[in-house]
Amino acid sequence: MTTTSLETSPDQTPLDQIRSRIAAACAEAGRSPDDVTLIAVSKLQPEDRVRAVLKQGQRIFGENRVQEAAGKWPAYRDEFPGISLHILGPLQSNKVRQAMELAEVIHSVDRPKIAQTIARIADEIGTCPELFLQINTGEEPQKAGVLPAEADAFVAECRDLSLPVKGLMCIPPADEEASLHFALLAKIAARNGLAGLSMGMSGDFEKAVSFGATHVRVGSAIFGARG
Ligand SMILES: *Cc1c(COP(=O)(O)O)cnc(C)c1O
Repeated sequence: MTTTSLETSPDQTPLDQIRSRIAAACAEAGRSPDDVTLIAVSKLQPEDRVRAVLKQGQRIFGENRVQEAAGKWPAYRDEFPGISLHILGPLQSNKVRQAMELAEVIHSVDRPKIAQTIARIADEIGTCPELFLQINTGEEPQKAGVLPAEADAFVAECRDLSLPVKGLMCIPPADEEASLHFALLAKIAARNGLAGLSMGMSGDFEKAVSFGATHVRVGSAIFGARG
């Protein structure tokens, strides 16, 4: 994954370069960079790389697995104030409580049962992370998320449960043009009155910004390839 572009200079860190590229994509799209949140996806990265990015001032991080997040982030939180942790991977029912206690935001609410479990636990503990609902825009059998045709009903159900739904999330199929999926997600969000769009990764975050992404999830382009 290359992280160079005309807007960047060689003495910038990869993190700086990604921020510059987001700013350039925003300028191109006539958007404010303040409207795009960069989530640094630190899953499976060695500690020295994560620390380096924390020391560069990044405070918003994403993890796929609750177990891995629980092993890393409580200690970082003590050391680096102001961390916001985003859970991005599919949740098992028995990990929901832990995810809710760990994270400020969950991007991967992918089925009614998980939404119901979140609502029950939120009632119990009196607080709930912000939520994105995952839409399986590519209708891939192996991928999490509700189908596009079920999205409106799922949003309505989550609203009925009084969940703090901030927006929608998708992971486009690896072998398809991402733009189609970004456009579809934006359309579903708009017709449901949802402002948040969690879309775009290392290979396509600029494209996602052009389609209205409010949250881009960038891992390897910041930290390097995962081991
Ligand atoms: C791993 C992951 C990312 C980051 O992927 P990169 O290609 O390394 O940027 C983003 N979103 C989700 C859901 C992921 O699992």
